[in-house]
Amino acid sequence: MRRLCKISVLLAAVLVYSCGGWNTDHKNANAKEIAQLTNPPQPLFTLNEDSTLVTLFLCGDVMTGRGIDQALPHPGNPRLYESYVKNAEEYLRLAEQANGNIATPISFDYIWGDALTELEKRKPDLRIINLETSITASDDNWKNKSVCYRMNPANIPCLTAAGIDGCALANNHVLDWGYKGLTETLQTLDKAGIKTAGAGENEEEAARPAVWTLKNGRLLLFSLGTDDSGVPEAWAAKGNAPGVHFAKDFTNETILKIKAQIGSLKSAGDIAVLSLHWGSNWGYHIPSEHRAFAHRLIEEAGVDIIHGHSSHHFRGIEVYKGKLILYGCGDFINDYEGISGEEEYRGDLTLMYFPVMDPANGHLVRLDMVPFRMRRFRLNYAEEKDAAWMAAVLNREGKKLGTGVEMKGKAPGCYLELKSGDDAESRD
Ligand SMILES: [Zn+2]
Repeated sequence: MRRLCKISVLLAAVLVYSCGGWNTDHKNANAKEIAQLTNPPQPLFTLNEDSTLVTLFLCGDVMTGRGIDQALPHPGNPRLYESYVKNAEEYLRLAEQANGNIATPISFDYIWGDALTELEKRKPDLRIINLETSITASDDNWKNKSVCYRMNPANIPCLTAAGIDGCALANNHVLDWGYKGLTETLQTLDKAGIKTAGAGENEEEAARPAVWTLKNGRLLLFSLGTDDSGVPEAWAAKGNAPGVHFAKDFTNETILKIKAQIGSLKSAGDIAVLSLHWGSNWGYHIPSEHRAFAHRLIEEAGVDIIHGHSSHHFRGIEVYKGKLILYGCGDFINDYEGISGEEEYRGDLTLMYFPVMDPANGHLVRLDMVPFRMRRFRLNYAEEKDAAWMAAVLNREGKKLGTGVEMKGKAPGCYLELKSGDDAESRD
């Protein structure tokens, strides 16, 4: 990415916006762009007026099982097989101990809290999440896996309440309650009108993307889970056997496989999102093999956005060849607020990601992120000091990747706008 740091931040933002991408040379600014520089537009909410652009809502793990399932109107069987906790109600109790009473049953839209206001305001074309739980009444817990998540299918309105369009399922929880649990998860989401990718009744189905027709093309959502995020290799869909779309490693062979899958389906004007459950739960370090993998997927396999998740907190962001790489979106909704440990990562703070894309070339035009804090199982707009902390972390981690953020507006409801930072400290 070019260096824009010598230009004022506002100017840089306008240039990035008006050039329609991060890689375009702003020396070629036309008269319209120059006019915009002297009379800069309000950046927020004007972009959707350009009917060729596509706005997405993306977030990391949405875990509506266990404690959250117990708080919803139709709690399932609370039985757990964890080392210490045997009843899912315990996670509800721990959250209440940490932050106060939760009036149960909560309504189906309760968990989304202020995120619903933001969705209503920004009106993304599609809303895509990583669903980090199975949706089933199955009691067939995966043996030797201590942490197993399930949400009762009767609680599915908690996803439709936020208008979720698509779920990535290739992760380390979708098969927690066995193959019966997977089938019920797929059927429940299908019945609710939510498309899925990354898991299926056979290998072909698991690898197949969810597809939507948009204004000027389609969006293809591929979902892949990797060994290093804790997806058991035994969960890989193989031939006629059900399971997840799985990758053991980041080798050339894996890249060629994904390239073939995307290449056989993607046409001009289509946007390919690869939702990738990869890497560890904690820490900001991005392994060099992850970075090289992401770069090659963009350069060679036709991926336009890497939608990465698995880390419980957000990680640094990169824009490579004009395309967005979210290395780790962080958990978005979970029942962890009563669990202590790893506090320095502030797992209670999370982001809504709103990338604006140009479908003509798959480039990122703009990325706004809205900061939230999960409290009493509800997403609340982050306070000013928390949003500032998140901005500082994204700037610190982004420096290694050539990005930074600028805080816009005032809390509650402020947002962080991605900008190009100083030259990356290391380039692969
Ligand atoms: Zn996971």
